[in-house]
Amino acid sequence: MFNCKDSIDKLLEYLDGEVAPDVKHHLEQHFKGCSPCEEFLKQYRETAPLCRKALLRARMPREVADRLTSFLRDALRKA
Ligand SMILES: [Zn+2]
Repeated sequence: MFNCKDSIDKLLEYLDGEVAPDVKHHLEQHFKGCSPCEEFLKQYRETAPLCRKALLRARMPREVADRLTSFLRDALRKA
């Protein structure tokens, strides 16, 4: 079972579809049982298409993705 840190570490790869099936399974299990991570995932998914449209590219700019990830890392550390 993944904890929050594991999940965030793998989140970007997961959204890019680059994780192994077992990792994907662990992530989905974690998101199901962890509302802060689930909420983050939801917001991330809503944000990504906007960036995609703006850039006519298939992925969120790395800089934005990194910023979101470190934001959640801080939030979890304070929790
Ligand atoms: Zn979590």
